[in-house]
Amino acid sequence: MDDATKKKISEANKRAWSSGAYANRVCAGMTGHTHSVESRKLMGHDKKGIPLTAEHRKKISEAHGSGENHVLWKGDDVGYRGLHTWVEKMKGTPQHCDDCGRTKPPKGLGRTRSYFQWANISLRYLRDVTDWKRLCCKCHKSFEKKQKCPV
Ligand SMILES: [Zn+2]
Repeated sequence: MDDATKKKISEANKRAWSSGAYANRVCAGMTGHTHSVESRKLMGHDKKGIPLTAEHRKKISEAHGSGENHVLWKGDDVGYRGLHTWVEKMKGTPQHCDDCGRTKPPKGLGRTRSYFQWANISLRYLRDVTDWKRLCCKCHKSFEKKQKCPV
């Protein structure tokens, strides 16, 4: 683009601005981009800050559930780790082995993690405290081959 062309364009622009053509266009563009109260409502912007109705609240609590119906409650499908945590909560950390009767871990073991663990009797991992027994690491290993003993 040579200087003459640039000058022509700039002069044309100046004329357009002074004639108000641009001003009108900009103005029209702006109003086109603002939203009416109705469209704002449709977009849900106006919902912010408005308290939920009692019915809405009820729907939410029904959807989420509470207690055993709560979404976070996985019932018997709860993961292995989750169930161990649950048993420990219900019955405490095991301090002895139900099979061999050991009450103390062998020397050098059980310092980072409890040497005694809850083992699932039925291997069905029921959410049932009677389905669990205390085992030492050694007994646990032989009882449940799959179980990795971390100690
Ligand atoms: Zn044992």
